[in-house]
Amino acid sequence: MKLDRKNESGNVTAPVMVTALIRKDGTITSAGEWHYTFVGKNSGLPFYDFMPASDGNILAAAIQKYLSDPGYATMEQGKLLLELVTELDNRNGYICSGIYLSFAVTHETENGEPLGKICYSALSGFSGAMENDRMKIAKYRYFMSMRSDIYFEYNTVTNGLVLYKYFNGNCFVLADSDLDEYIESVQEKYVGDNPAYREEMDALIRAFKDRERNISHTVQYSTSEGYKRTSRFMGGSLPGYETIVAGIYISNNRASDEPYYMTPAARDAGTGLLNKKAVTEYIIDMLPTLHNRTAWLVMIDIDDFKNINDNFGHAFGDEVISYVADSLMSIVGNRGFVGRFGGDEFMAFVYGVPTREALKNMLKVLTKTLALKYDGRFRLTLSEGISSYPVDGNAIDTLFAKADKALYIAKEKGKNRHIIYDENLHGGVEGDYMESQAVSYALSRDKKREFISSLVLGLSRKGIDYLIRNRSVQRDIRTVFDLDGLSVIGKQGMEVLCCEGKYVIDDIQLDAVPSFDFTGFSRMGGEDHTYVLNNIETIRKVNPVMYERLKSFEIGACVVCVTYSGNMVRSIISFDVFNKIRKWSQADIDMMSIIGNLAGTLVMERENR
Ligand code: GH3
Ligand code: MG
Repeated sequence: MKLDRKNESGNVTAPVMVTALIRKDGTITSAGEWHYTFVGKNSGLPFYDFMPASDGNILAAAIQKYLSDPGYATMEQGKLLLELVTELDNRNGYICSGIYLSFAVTHETENGEPLGKICYSALSGFSGAMENDRMKIAKYRYFMSMRSDIYFEYNTVTNGLVLYKYFNGNCFVLADSDLDEYIESVQEKYVGDNPAYREEMDALIRAFKDRERNISHTVQYSTSEGYKRTSRFMGGSLPGYETIVAGIYISNNRASDEPYYMTPAARDAGTGLLNKKAVTEYIIDMLPTLHNRTAWLVMIDIDDFKNINDNFGHAFGDEVISYVADSLMSIVGNRGFVGRFGGDEFMAFVYGVPTREALKNMLKVLTKTLALKYDGRFRLTLSEGISSYPVDGNAIDTLFAKADKALYIAKEKGKNRHIIYDENLHGGVEGDYMESQAVSYALSRDKKREFISSLVLGLSRKGIDYLIRNRSVQRDIRTVFDLDGLSVIGKQGMEVLCCEGKYVIDDIQLDAVPSFDFTGFSRMGGEDHTYVLNNIETIRKVNPVMYERLKSFEIGACVVCVTYSGNMVRSIISFDVFNKIRKWSQADIDMMSIIGNLAGTLVMERENR
């Protein structure tokens, strides 16, 4: 008997910690993504329809018993009420065996009816150890990702032995053969006449043949190089499958051909994630096996993590890092793997998500998970930059460079977002790239600098007319800073010199402009009169007049540069974003203030002529 059928890539995908809320009638209200992928169109069926009848009846009875009476259900909330080792059949020819499934009653209700929770996970060979340790399912996922042990399963009737290795939620079949053949091949390959190793093998065989309930053998031996090794077997017969002996084989005997990324040294100490070196080597090994199937390299950086450290302390910061790591790991699941590049920087290599849409959905789930976690205290957000294999390249360096660039742009654009690298937008093409509004999504800081230089040059040569008489220049400014509106107001705030974008200029009460009060805006230092407002809600209380005025134009955020002469307003250059809040990067604000201040001076010059 096999635990899982192999998929076309030769690896076995197995569920890793799927949770689902279940109704009294056995149907599922919500579940982890794996569940829906697995059951596909059958997702409306009661859950027990996917289980063998005998197990399904046990689950159905438990659900009936604990959910039918809301009072009784309340008493039982949170208790582990049923554990089963079972099999799932998606009714389309795909079977997952060796599934550990648990059932409990939750605090949640639907139309007043209590809901149950089932958790299930592939359990290859783990149940023996679990019987001993009563290790809970949540730990199991962690366990699988941390340990590099080999899981075995032996059928006492057929003498068949299967060895599995879990790695980042994926199950690799290392061997699938007759026990005697396996031992022969191992002895030829590694052992030679090493008596200690033979002793180890004998112990395993004895345990298998005796079908011991709880195998626990420790064997010590010396290698031919003289190193002392210890190996341990833990396991027992699978409940419900008396002919199957399953367990884990824990060895500190690191085969020299084992890749670095499979060793404990490859794990980041704080989070258990793969470190940078491991990630790099693993991706290099993995790319050729993808056969040009789409994969995504996602670079992830926590937004304003320094503030979290500063406001709540480093220990709390560490906790946030662990939480992000755990969330990433469970959301990516067996569709890829996750690494930590140090500090607040992570990456995920995702090969089990075929489309952009599906990838975006995955990132949406991640964003929501994080946003809810510290609700009230602060909002935990991430920026992500993504490159895609094979379209963006098939060399690891290129993929990293492009994902990095996209991450940089995500930060520049105001954080809390993901940017998928697009060669047309983010690549090196020069020329009329400013034409397209979409391109704004994309401009790197270098390109912005280049644009600002040419703008400043134009303004210096031709004066303010270069801006106010030139629609394409106005549009370019909007594009570069992703603005909805831009306006230049002269004559002490009484004349609109240009107004580009959504600004409804007829509605402006121009006579009110000179009295603009910027209380609540943040202000750039020095001589500069640049006022920045990322979110108009922040001035609602302190500056209600300005709040109402901006609100009536649906302006959610703006950067305003005012030129004064004495106490008198001479000109106003306003960079506006309608309807949404916005967080400009410091670099963007600097650049807008350069344009605004230069333009303001030029407006005055023109009026003085
Ligand atoms: P940005 O949004 O631009 O990413 O801003 P940021 O504040 O997150 O800036 P950055 O990513 O550069 O800062 C990361 C900080 O994380 C710097 C360092 O003090 C802190 N840090 C790095 N490693 C750890 C860690 O293991 N634990 C804690 N608590 N802090 C760490
Ligand atoms: Mg950061």
